[in-house]
Amino acid sequence: MANAGRGHGGHFSRGFLTEEEKANQPKVTPALLRRIFSYLKPYSKHLALVLVCIAVSSFFTLLPSILTGKILDEGLLKRDVRALVFYIALSLAVTLGANLIGVAESYINTWIAQHITYDMRNQMYAHLQKMSQRFFTTNNQGDIITRMTSDIDGVQQVITNTFTSILSNAITLIIAMIAMFRKNWILALIGIVIVPLFTLPTRRAGKTRWKYTNESQACNDEINGILNETLSVSGQLLSKLFGKEKYEYERYEAANGRMIRLNIRESMAGRWFRVILTTFTSIGPMLIYLVGGLLMIRYNQDLTVGDITVLVALLGRMYMPVNSLLNIQVDWIRSMALFTRIFDYFDIPVEIENAPDAVTPDRAEGNVAFEHVRFGYEPDRAVLKDVSFTLQAGHSIAIVGPSGSGKSTIINLIPRLYDVNEGRVTFDGVDVRKLDLGFLRRQVGVVSQDTYLFNGTIRENLLYARPDASESDMVAALKKANIWEFVQRQPEGLDAMVGNRGLKLSGGEKQRLSIARVLLKDPTIFIFDEATSALDSISEQKIQEAIDPIIQSRTSILIAHRLSTILAADEILVVQDGQIVERGQHKELVARNGVYRELYETQFSKALMPESEGVSELEQYIWGAQPADEPD
Ligand code: ATP
Repeated sequence: MANAGRGHGGHFSRGFLTEEEKANQPKVTPALLRRIFSYLKPYSKHLALVLVCIAVSSFFTLLPSILTGKILDEGLLKRDVRALVFYIALSLAVTLGANLIGVAESYINTWIAQHITYDMRNQMYAHLQKMSQRFFTTNNQGDIITRMTSDIDGVQQVITNTFTSILSNAITLIIAMIAMFRKNWILALIGIVIVPLFTLPTRRAGKTRWKYTNESQACNDEINGILNETLSVSGQLLSKLFGKEKYEYERYEAANGRMIRLNIRESMAGRWFRVILTTFTSIGPMLIYLVGGLLMIRYNQDLTVGDITVLVALLGRMYMPVNSLLNIQVDWIRSMALFTRIFDYFDIPVEIENAPDAVTPDRAEGNVAFEHVRFGYEPDRAVLKDVSFTLQAGHSIAIVGPSGSGKSTIINLIPRLYDVNEGRVTFDGVDVRKLDLGFLRRQVGVVSQDTYLFNGTIRENLLYARPDASESDMVAALKKANIWEFVQRQPEGLDAMVGNRGLKLSGGEKQRLSIARVLLKDPTIFIFDEATSALDSISEQKIQEAIDPIIQSRTSILIAHRLSTILAADEILVVQDGQIVERGQHKELVARNGVYRELYETQFSKALMPESEGVSELEQYIWGAQPADEPD
């Protein structure tokens, strides 16, 4: 019984479509089918083999039913022991053969399905890697992962179950019908009429049951809703204070009553289903015996006892395939929906990619310019409006501004995490959209606010930036980032684990490690998005010591929240509401009494408060001799 009556796919075990599935039925177009077929094509030889296996094993599975006739007519009725033993042995042999072929078929089938999902997963991963930041910020990570995992797993189910189920059931049916017609066409016709009489009521009963199951599920949700709402502390208080106890009781009682009625109906639908099933499955054989018997006894037709038994046995073999084929429509729709969902993902255009005529310069200097840049994450809501500035190689710029003013957005545009809507961003005079993406991103090193270290060792995290870095390169970078001492203190040193498993790093340590990683990458432009969250003053100082030399010696852009960082830069850009509203040196900006001064007074100066002597020196530097508002 390797193939006869193969059930429909386990992945799609529910036999009926939900309302939602009905509403969103996929459009099955020749293009869709061609596209699905394109995934099968590389395995066409294997598929042909599967087809042969299914055909042979379906035939072998039916053969014992046909041989029953021989056992009866040639063996039992003729009292021929040799014939009896021969046909029994043959029956057993073909059953074994069918099962062995079934094993081979499953193997090839699984092999094909696994290879197709392997191809699809790789293709999907490569496609997702090309997606822009916008894709990842607008799509739920859970959805992306579901697409990668369960949806593609579904494809495997479709191939191993749905497709083969259609094939094997259809082949079984065809062979059974041919065999029946060869025995006796009248009885065969009766069989063909009887089978749908059994399957249609079965489907109807199943559908009714499915309907009740859904309704009782909804009712159950409603009851849970009422319980949660009214049996909570605040719900009880509300109902007591408003004198709604009777009302709430009646509401609950009504839902409860509906629930039991549904449960009774559901359970009775199951009962009726069994009545119909057993009646029809016993009516079929009896009818064949009756008509066959009449034909044999009264009309002396060329029929034997064995023939009638074979017809009854074959009839029994037809119920399951017919039922499965009727159900397969549901699986088919789900499979098509699955492929459509996956293909929809494949069809999301790649937003940021290499221009066909992208250039890869021989050397990079590190001049960056924003020319009248306008940009919005959503097209109609500009986050940056007419931003222009230049950063000359070897210089540093500090960007300051209130939260949400667009500072991070400015730096996102340099490595082309997003493309501008208007204006342009240039690197060494070339529009970044014209540069080779790989080249551009190699030139830019970003230490972001929420440092991402993957869950591995310190060494692995460092090597991610430069796989060929030597131990001494790593140590040098760690020293420059002011974290070498910390690494040395770890018993495992460079091989200490980072992240949630193993060693846990503090915010400041993570930042310094990520600075070391960027130093190892050795980019042309260093971008540092200073954390807004408060670090303790020792951590802060260590970070400051790490980045100060970088600011002094490298082309760098810093989103700064602390005065010491700001003061280290050559120029300060003040961003407000997506525009550069002030620019210049610290002293001039403070003197201007504008946005910068306000930021200084509300934010930057706070960083100075806890310290005492150093602060007043700094204060003096900033204010000259006379502090403005705060008397010392
Ligand atoms: P902070 O100092 O708080 O980090 P910021 O000045 O760096 O702020 P941005 O992160 O550049 O500000 O954000 C500017 C504006 O763009 C904000 O209004 C923000 O809500 C919006 N924004 C930022 N990232 C996205 C995104 N991925 N999709 C849509 N809007 C975004």
